[in-house]
Amino acid sequence: PETITIQELANRMSERAVDVIRLLMKQGQIHKITDVIDSDTAQLIAEEMGHTVRRVAESDVEEGLTSDEPDLEEDLDPRPPVVTIMGHVDHGKTSLLDAIRAANVVEGEAGGITQHIGAYQVAAPSGDLVTFIDTPGHAAFTSMRARGAKVTDIVVIVVAADDGVMPQTVEAIQHAKAAGVPMIIAINKIDKPDANPQRVRTELLQHDIQVESMGGETLEFEVSAKTGEGLPELLEGLQLQAEILNLRANEKRDGEGTVIEAQLDRGRGPVATVLVQRGTLFTGDIVVAGAEWGRIRALIDDTGKHVPYAGPSVPVEVLGFNGTPDAGDRVIVVPNEARAREVTEYRARIKRERLNARTGGANRSLVDMMR
Ligand code: GDP
Ligand code: MG
Repeated sequence: PETITIQELANRMSERAVDVIRLLMKQGQIHKITDVIDSDTAQLIAEEMGHTVRRVAESDVEEGLTSDEPDLEEDLDPRPPVVTIMGHVDHGKTSLLDAIRAANVVEGEAGGITQHIGAYQVAAPSGDLVTFIDTPGHAAFTSMRARGAKVTDIVVIVVAADDGVMPQTVEAIQHAKAAGVPMIIAINKIDKPDANPQRVRTELLQHDIQVESMGGETLEFEVSAKTGEGLPELLEGLQLQAEILNLRANEKRDGEGTVIEAQLDRGRGPVATVLVQRGTLFTGDIVVAGAEWGRIRALIDDTGKHVPYAGPSVPVEVLGFNGTPDAGDRVIVVPNEARAREVTEYRARIKRERLNARTGGANRSLVDMMR
């Protein structure tokens, strides 16, 4: 059950703790200021003292920040698919990401001096864009999912044609299935003399994946990150899958997205790579992310260029946060600094209390009460 200390309850009501203790005493309960009471008792006390109690969860605060109203049909436009590459170690995740990026970077990129921003966009042969999250591996995917962040539309499962389905391949398949995210299979390293793509297809069957060439529905592509073979087809396949998923977003609303990664940069301060998921982020916007907020000082795209705004499925570096947010944090535009402070102070307090509860060893969480 949720609990709260008498001191904290008093603080939240702007009452004296001694008055709370007195009231409890009247009900036959003897307490010290540091004692913990359960949320129902806390609510009774608060009401007794003339306060309106609202139990607020973190997400409720967040919900107040973003509108629940569905977007109007006419405001929705197609958006690029957001793709994560997963698979067994050494099967070529990093190589594929690099090869796709190297072969398809949008023209005019500043002299090949590409900084790593954790995600990038490339154009498929059709000209349509595809967004890749450049943090391969299950850790990123699972930790984000554990935090309730859904950033990926499609998972590419890489299987080395010379090695076949391995434990982490199976794990990746299970992650994608659990997340309800469609999969595309990239059978990699087909340039190798001992490549056996047919074996991969058969092995996948044992994990309930029937690829297209075997009469199933899962798209599969034979590729080589080394020679570049099959990569255009893979990109087209991702685009096709995106069309099937009918991925759309309203870019004409306040920006919302998720922090993909963030770090404190010596010169630039906190830098967060954000994937925009709805609406459009503009420089000058005031945003919150987890317990941090900031006024966006600069938006930098995946080619290192400063941009004035970023729309749905676009990854950008966001400069201007007052602190470093965490990967998986929701980024939401708020109307003003006061609101940003209010939200982040509330979240910071919850964070602290959770930490205290943990380090205190007692099995207490908190009752979220506000006047
Ligand atoms: P990851 O652990 O899944 O990220 O795998 P890497 O991208 O690091 O690749 C592991 C090894 O396989 C590296 O030595 C790569 O050079 C090699 N490799 C990756 N893709 C290919 C490919 O298509 N063909 C060949 N021959 N080697 C590849
Ligand atoms: Mg790697």
